[in-house]
This record gives sequence, structure tokens and C-alpha cells, in this order.
Amino acid sequence: LRGSTMETKQKRPNRVSMPCQAADVRNKNFDEVALGYTEEMAFTEASRCLACKKPLCMSGCPVEVPIRDFIARLVARDIDGAFETITSANSFPAICGRVCPQENQCEGKCILGKKGEPVAIGRLERFVADRMLTRECRKSQPGQSAKRIACIGSGPSSLAVAGACSRAGLQVDIYEAMHEAGGVLIYGIPSFRLPKDVVAREIHNLEAQGVGFYLNYVGGRTVTVDSLLASYAAVFIGVGAGLPNFLGIAGENLLGVVSANEYLTRINLGRAFQFPTYDPPVFPGRHVTVCGAGNVAMDAARTALRMGAESVHIIYRRTRDEMPARKEEVEHAEEEGVQFAMLSQPLQFNGNEKRELVSVELQKMELGEPDASGRRRPKPIAGETVVMPTDLAIVALGTRSNPVLLEATPNLRLNDRGYIIVDEATGETSIPNVFAGGDIVTGAATVILAMGAGRRAAKEIITRFADHEAPVC
Ligand code: FAD
Ligand code: SF4
Repeated sequence: LRGSTMETKQKRPNRVSMPCQAADVRNKNFDEVALGYTEEMAFTEASRCLACKKPLCMSGCPVEVPIRDFIARLVARDIDGAFETITSANSFPAICGRVCPQENQCEGKCILGKKGEPVAIGRLERFVADRMLTRECRKSQPGQSAKRIACIGSGPSSLAVAGACSRAGLQVDIYEAMHEAGGVLIYGIPSFRLPKDVVAREIHNLEAQGVGFYLNYVGGRTVTVDSLLASYAAVFIGVGAGLPNFLGIAGENLLGVVSANEYLTRINLGRAFQFPTYDPPVFPGRHVTVCGAGNVAMDAARTALRMGAESVHIIYRRTRDEMPARKEEVEHAEEEGVQFAMLSQPLQFNGNEKRELVSVELQKMELGEPDASGRRRPKPIAGETVVMPTDLAIVALGTRSNPVLLEATPNLRLNDRGYIIVDEATGETSIPNVFAGGDIVTGAATVILAMGAGRRAAKEIITRFADHEAPVC
């Protein structure tokens, strides 16, 4: 160990900034906003770490990446060693380094954050992973007698199951409803935050390990849990929670009102962002309103700017302080030109004679007493409404579980919110040898929590069905 928490008293170099595309350039393209550290930047930032005896950062990581140890490898300029250390706990660091909410996790706990800026753990993780992106994954093709495991859905929870199980010698097949694998990593998170080739590379590595991908298979329709159990030793359900919520107000079925889920899917999965090479049906909108203030709302708003909108407004019934989106995402959105209409609640959408959206009527709000969540409750100001012209309204109010697979599997126990109940330690559902994890268990959450759930289920599946433990990839 190079130091102790006593060293926090010494003057440390400032946190190394992330180089980014300029705001007025990046708001017109879909290339990645954050450009990544150079080697010198990474080594300088790594040298800020105190190598604490009790690394608090690790306690903030949902999958317990040995953060102190991987940073120590970087300080020694051993990028291979740093990569091996990270991947002992996290199979997809190039993804997590980009999209994890580190400020609430590892960086939120880092001792340096108590009096200054925490070590940029996410940026270092991304640096290491990007340097190793073209690595050849150790192949572990399953033998003839390998037990077979099926995953339904191909988001991060299933990818984590597939990675761990296939490395342990099991044959894994993934059944995905869409025509491309990756879940929200592909059709939700825009390429300016998570380039599609980063995800494609990880999927390619899984294929090289022998994982089978069966696309356009709808669990509950094309295949069922029962039919899979006839040929597979275990089934993992990782179908996410992709059914969008709506406002339930007049005019919501006008042309020009869409869910964020549909809007982002058409642009990301349908590749509208690569127009004119791809030309899926998507209405770009000139004056766009986005209802909601979470990360999905920020993604939709920033995407709308890049699709050529003249104005984009976030509509939110509370104030900026209560916005659930990550601070960095809000700042990036604002720098790029997104405007914020706070203390405003949509009352109704108005259309023309062709049933096309032309405006949204907003109720002005004020903040009252705190509610059960501790946030001040918004309440309408009597008689104060405004009409905002808009031709595209994107509703980003969260999602819930999709019933297609659940209804086709009646002996799967669900909680009263419609999510699958699992054993916390193993991820096993009420059906023996059927596991579940990710958003379909927790409700909409994060990539790293979905991966963590996948790894837990994989550990149990490996214990039951594999001949050997998983080697590190
Ligand atoms: P998902 O990623 O939702 O994948 C589920 C997969 O199952 C999908 O491919 C779907 O097509 C498939 N499927 C569904 N039903 C069936 C069926 N019946 N049969 C077969 N396949 C089916 N998290 C972060 O940590 N950081 C972020 O920056 C972030 N940004 C986000 C931005 C957006 C726009 C969205 C929507 C979410 C974001 N999240 C973010 C949340 C994160 O992406 C999810 O928590 C995570 O992807 C959940 O993983 P999962 O494996 O449970 O399922
Ligand atoms: Fe300590 Fe922060 Fe380094 Fe973790 S990242 S070992 S908490 S200084």
C-alpha cells in the first residue's frame, strides 16, 4: 500500500478533466461526447489514489470491483494487470465505465471526495477497458456433454449470465425478441453516450466463446419457459421492464405524441441516427417537448437536438433541484441547448384537423410540503396555465414490466408491482431452475445492478450444472 487516509491532508493534484467534443459541435452529431483519457491523463489521475487500507470506494460498487488494486496496477503502468483485476468482478468495464452512475456509487464513497474531488474511477475503468477492447477473449467452447442454459432477453443481465456460464464450460443460448442483441444498451442509451461498437464488441466476444444468439424470438410466444426447460438445464429470464408509462391526459393519442422508449428505439435500433444510410420512419420534430426529468428524458432531449429540432424543452412539475437525472447529464443537455420549463405539468395535448399535435397546455405549479419521498410536493397554482407550441411530445415517465412472457408463465410468482419474485442470494424464481434478474425483478434500475444480478444467478447455475469454475476472460 502506498498510503493511508492520513495522506488526504496533503495537497493532491486536481482531478483530470475528461476531454469532450465542444457543445455546439456535438449537438449536431451522434459521435461519443466524452473522448476518453490519454495514457498520460490516466496515469496522472491514477496517481491521485491514496491506496487506502480500507478502500471505501469498493463498498460503493454493486459488484465489488477491486478498485484500489486495479488503480495500483495502473500506477505501475500495467494496463493488462489492471484489466484482469477489473474483469475478475465486472465482465463489461467498457460499458460500465461509460454509463454507471459513479457519483452515487464508487466515486460517491471515495475518501478524496470528502474534502475535494474523488478519484475519477469510472474514467479510469473506461480507459483500461478501451485499451483492451481488441483483445482476443480466451475461448472456452463447450464440450459435447456440456449442460445447456437458456436466457430470455439479451440485456446486460443475460449477457452477464452468458459470459460467466460459458466460461465455466456451459452451452448458453440467448433468445431475444428484437433483431439485434444488447437490450437497452443498444436500443435505449444513445450512441453519443455509449457507442454501438463498444457493445457489439462484447457480444462478438461472447459469440466467440460459443454463446448462441437467437434473434426475433419472443419469450412467451415463439418460445416458452416450459418448452425451454424441456431441452435446457436452467432458464434465465432477463427481459427488462420496457413497457412505457403515459400521462393519461387528453390528446395523448395525437400524431406527434410518442413514448421515449419508442422514439429512442426507432433512432438507436432503427439507426435513424445514421441517416441517410438508414431511413426508418421517425418524425424529427421542430419544436420538441419532453415530459419527465430523468436520465431517459435527457437522452431523448439530447437526441431530438441531434435530429435537427429548433427547440427542445424539458417539462417538469418540480424544480431543477428535484430532477432525478444525473447532474452531468443535465449539464451536458443544457450546454447543448436543451431548455428547461420547470414547475409545469402537462394538462392536455392539442391537435389540428389532421389530428397532428400542435401544442401542449401546461399547468403552472408551486412546491408545497415534502411528500413521502422527502421531496417537496408540487401543487397547481389556480388559474395559471400556458400553451406551449410543439409538434413532437416525448413522454419519458418511466416504464413497467411487459406482461407478454409473464402471462404465458402462470406459475411464476410476481410481486404486487408485477415484477418477478426471486431468491435474493441465487436469483431463482418460484419455478425450480428458472432464474431471473435485472429490471424485470427490481423495476427500472441500472446496468451494473442488472449485471450483478446476472452474475449471482450464474454463480448458482455454475454450482449446479458446470464441471469447473469460470476462468477470467
Ligand atoms: P434490458 O436492458 O431492458 O434488456 C431486456 C431485453 O429483453 C431487451 O433486449 C428486450 O428486447 C428483451 N425482451 C423483452 N421481452 C422479451 C421477450 N418476451 N422475449 C425475448 N426477449 C425479450 N442505466 C445505467 O446504469 N446508466 C445509464 O446511463 C442508463 N441510461 C439509460 C437510458 C435509457 C434510455 C434507458 C431506457 C435506460 C437506461 N439505464 C441506464 C437503465 C439500464 O439500461 C437498465 O437498467 C438495464 O439495461 C436493465 O438490464 P436488463 O438486462 O434487465 O434488461
Ligand atoms: Fe481510497 Fe478513493 Fe483510492 Fe478508493 S479510489 S482506494 S477510496 S483514494
